[in-house]
Amino acid sequence: LRKERSRTEKLAVLSELAASVAHEIRNPLTVVRGFLQLTQQSLDEKNKSFISTAILELDRAEKIISDYLSFAKPQIEHISVIQVEELVNSTTDVIRAYASMRGVEMHTLPYPESLQVASDKHKLQQVLMNLIKNAIEAVPEHKEDGRVEVRISIERNFVKIEVADNGKGMTPEQVTRLGDPYYSTKDTGTGLGLMVTFRLVEAMDGKLIFHSKPGKGTQAVLYIPLFEKNKP
Ligand code: ADP
Ligand code: MG
Repeated sequence: LRKERSRTEKLAVLSELAASVAHEIRNPLTVVRGFLQLTQQSLDEKNKSFISTAILELDRAEKIISDYLSFAKPQIEHISVIQVEELVNSTTDVIRAYASMRGVEMHTLPYPESLQVASDKHKLQQVLMNLIKNAIEAVPEHKEDGRVEVRISIERNFVKIEVADNGKGMTPEQVTRLGDPYYSTKDTGTGLGLMVTFRLVEAMDGKLIFHSKPGKGTQAVLYIPLFEKNKP
């Protein structure tokens, strides 16, 4: 336990540092991007393409910072009682536009009774967001019936939230690599989303399990301890 605690403390210090560094780096990146775009207008085709590459790389840096920042947010542990369905709905609302842009339908299947967890709302939302975003991105671009389903249920003392897609799926080897830093199969992926997600879930005393079949799709199954009012 002692070892765990010092690790958590170190992580907190590191997180704060990372958050301020990320913030400081973002501003100059924005300025550089703006000037590159301005310069681009007066150039010949060849030099234009150099600038385009530079801008793409800047955007990549920005993405990496964003993914880290979500992990590095100052450790304000705002534990509250959360209505799971409400949080799922507000999260899918945020991400629905992204889904429809990629031609993917989003559905949530609610549970007949209201389920609650005691957790950090912002972080739980971050976890859901990462899982849903990956599910949407797993659907091949020209697939006709792309679909992401979020199902809420209960299993023993856990609220179970499943994020299922009918996307490209993964081999068992690929599944074992999930959460490894920088593991990504996407052109513009950072491979940091699930690393952050697994850490957050662990901090919530939850569990995250993936089932997947290549060519069929993936189910991410998230377990978060159920909040029981009358618990001793
Ligand atoms: P990124 O999204 O930036 O690639 P993540 O850590 O979020 O990084 O995901 C890592 C990798 O895991 C992805 O690149 C992808 O190969 C795989 N992956 C994650 N979720 C799914 C999914 N629902 N279906 C298929 N592959 C997935
Ligand atoms: Mg991702």
